[in-house]
Amino acid sequence: MVHRSLDPGSSPVILRNPQLTGYSLSRIFALMKRIYLDHTATTPVDPRVLDAMLPYFSETFGNASSVHWYGQQAKVVLEQARETIARSIGAESGEVFFTSGGTESDNFAIKGVAAVAGPKGKRHIVTTRVEHHAVLEPCEHLAREGFEVTYLPVDGHALVSPGLISESLTASVCLVSIMYANNEVGTIYPIQEIASVAHRHGVFVHTDAVQALGRVPLDVRTLGVDLMTISAHKIYGPKGIGALYVKRGTELDPLLQGGGQERGKRPGTENVPLAVGFAKAVELAVAEMDTEPRRLKSLRDDLEARIAAEIPYALVNGHPTSRLPHILNISMDSGRVLLEGEMLLMNMDLKGIAVTSGSACTSGSMQPSHVLLAMGRDPRTAKATLRFAFGKSNTKEDIDYVVESLKSVVRHMTR
Ligand code: PLP
Repeated sequence: MVHRSLDPGSSPVILRNPQLTGYSLSRIFALMKRIYLDHTATTPVDPRVLDAMLPYFSETFGNASSVHWYGQQAKVVLEQARETIARSIGAESGEVFFTSGGTESDNFAIKGVAAVAGPKGKRHIVTTRVEHHAVLEPCEHLAREGFEVTYLPVDGHALVSPGLISESLTASVCLVSIMYANNEVGTIYPIQEIASVAHRHGVFVHTDAVQALGRVPLDVRTLGVDLMTISAHKIYGPKGIGALYVKRGTELDPLLQGGGQERGKRPGTENVPLAVGFAKAVELAVAEMDTEPRRLKSLRDDLEARIAAEIPYALVNGHPTSRLPHILNISMDSGRVLLEGEMLLMNMDLKGIAVTSGSACTSGSMQPSHVLLAMGRDPRTAKATLRFAFGKSNTKEDIDYVVESLKSVVRHMTR
């Protein structure tokens, strides 16, 4: 069954010469052309980031909370990293709290605000149906604890209407959590407008900007948000570190109890090497902001145009203009062709092309994307989806190969 759907053109050496399979499969795979187009799932650590981090594993290794010389050396470096990150988003360094990544920052923001507001009778959170699971799951958790959660619907481009947000803001709402940009389809939300609506009702605003950092300029003061989530590994920094921006005066409880690190808001020995790597990644992203996102957009637009011209039943998901520059999400219209999503991915992988059908966190499951369903795609179309996410390693030459490979895969699967 599986083999019937695999595209024989995907790995000619293996499938046409079965006697070779036992002898050096790993060598054949190692020699294959490979194109990584999954930069929303994660990015490789930039060598300059790695170089910046290395001394802080074994040379300047002190515990940043120790009072002796070793500790103070580490503390200085940690605070420099915090300052770099804070400056890049228009915040003060005292407003940036290091965490283990985007997931923790989202949990910290939502559960932290709820823990303070709940006892005051503000037990209602407003979010959307298209958030990352790192937002949806803490909301579900709070709902099980008796909070009310409103999941706002979105339109066909994944946009939520500020009018709907306004209508949902009753006196019991403590927090609006809406992502800056969607990780699956790239749609960018009008956060500035949303924040001003929410603030008129005295409600805190959190935005998950994990996918936006490094791709669009972010300034927390201009946006007017109270809390903002960012993560290092989406911008060529290390995995396992992120931060939560908390506007001065925003009350939230810590998730963890322990030592008094991060001003008591996030106890645990500070991870100095990762903080340095995060800061270096941010510094590079800021330096490349005028060139790299534009380059990625040009590659993305090129691929989008080629697919539109050459694969007639491909539908583009996401907003046509208000969209992150590096994301292209397409579905094969189930009204015209029935393609199995997993097979599509597997065949692209056999061609050496790494893409996903949606969020990496759910790619192991067979469920259609909750984002695409919320946008009104039918389940079969939603399952036949590919998300291409461009990054530093991609070039114009990749586009031809991706288009030819996709055409060959689709041709075979529809035969
Ligand atoms: N939020 C969004 C929008 C994401 O895309 C991701 C990761 O894919 C996360 C949160 C989780 O971030 P992390 O992997 O740093 O925990």
